Amino acid sequence: MKTAVQFGRTTKEFEIIESPIPHILVDSKKELHGWWEGIKPYGNRECTAERLLINPYNGCTHNCFFCYAHALGGYFKTFRKEGIVAVFRDFDRIISKQLDKLSVASCGYLSPVTDPFQPINKKYELSEKIIKEFVSRNIPVQFTTKGRIPDDAIRLIKRQEHSFGQVSILTTDEEKRKKLMDGKTPTDELFRNIERLADEDIFAVCRIDPVIPYVTAGREELEELVKRAVDSGAKHIIASCMDIPTSLKGEIYAKIEERFDISKNKLNRLFTERIRGDFNADMGYRRKLFRTLREICDRAGVTMALCMEFESVGGKNIKGLNREFMSSNNCEGIDVPIYVKKGDRFEPVEGCDGNCLGCYRSEKISVCGLPLNEAKAWKLRDYRKWSKEIKQETKEKGQKSITGDW
Ligand code: SF4
Ligand code: SF4
Repeated sequence: MKTAVQFGRTTKEFEIIESPIPHILVDSKKELHGWWEGIKPYGNRECTAERLLINPYNGCTHNCFFCYAHALGGYFKTFRKEGIVAVFRDFDRIISKQLDKLSVASCGYLSPVTDPFQPINKKYELSEKIIKEFVSRNIPVQFTTKGRIPDDAIRLIKRQEHSFGQVSILTTDEEKRKKLMDGKTPTDELFRNIERLADEDIFAVCRIDPVIPYVTAGREELEELVKRAVDSGAKHIIASCMDIPTSLKGEIYAKIEERFDISKNKLNRLFTERIRGDFNADMGYRRKLFRTLREICDRAGVTMALCMEFESVGGKNIKGLNREFMSSNNCEGIDVPIYVKKGDRFEPVEGCDGNCLGCYRSEKISVCGLPLNEAKAWKLRDYRKWSKEIKQETKEKGQKSITGDW
């Protein structure tokens, strides 16, 4: 059996492999890259730190009904229509070659639009192999999951001082969780993930991302969730309020109505703000929710930040809400510096706290000496350019470089 994947006007055919779940193998030379949007011109960047984004899979069988990746095209559309996951064949080797050409690297991020530990990963283990590529060079790497973290992933990131793990937990109510997603990892196992990270002294984050209005937004429920996360060892909470891509609005409303008995009219009255083309809950509702969460986190003695929460400030301009609600320095709760190659290993740049957005907003000269303080949407070619410059200067100055005397 074959499937055809559409990219604009072109179509590519792939053989479907049925076991253990339907998937296709894709040969691709896609490149590591930074965040999709920069702070200029409209204020679209809220992620404080720089990251190298990595998606070894497209399509995610956890299949959360609110997932924004369902609105994406290409392989994501094929997943949505046919339940077929795209697996990027030998992606770890492609990444290895890309990392080999760099002399400067930010923390790797598995994965912005899929779950790195979804069930298909058991067959290919691309996520563990990619983590290994980062850690073996002493480059930090982080993952976010709603699945069970494989033991190997924990064993590997333990070896790299700035690597960390994020566990996404939306509710403490297992029955509710099952109605939010097809993923089979039970709530207890998700909290256990946090414990397993904490037991190894690895920085653990709990993501309540997103909170679903009228479904998981009750104060007591959020208090219980934060308490369990902190008791399990989480050091930081990341939260957001569900927003809805225009193309998914009807479908998401129907599911919330059917599964949680919340009427479409009620949802329609709440999701009135259009930001970046998506429907957001009314600003008053979101501010109240984030104030509540901040209060809960302060009381529980844990830091908190929001993920991609904006308010419209006229025209296409938007303003991130973290300056109002974040209690940590970096939005992910941990300061991960930029790393530069020294000999055959990467080392952290002294004095860098990884908050590039902070450097953008400050008058100070950034210690990295790189344009990362412009907080743009960086590409691999930018990292290559900086790497060449670093190599050149290192050659000229012996052990010194543009990033200082490391
Ligand atoms: S686990 Fe994440 S990527 Fe996967 S469906 Fe849920 S929200 Fe989307
Ligand atoms: S010094 Fe500032 S701009 Fe440079 S990498 Fe560190 S946080 Fe980013």
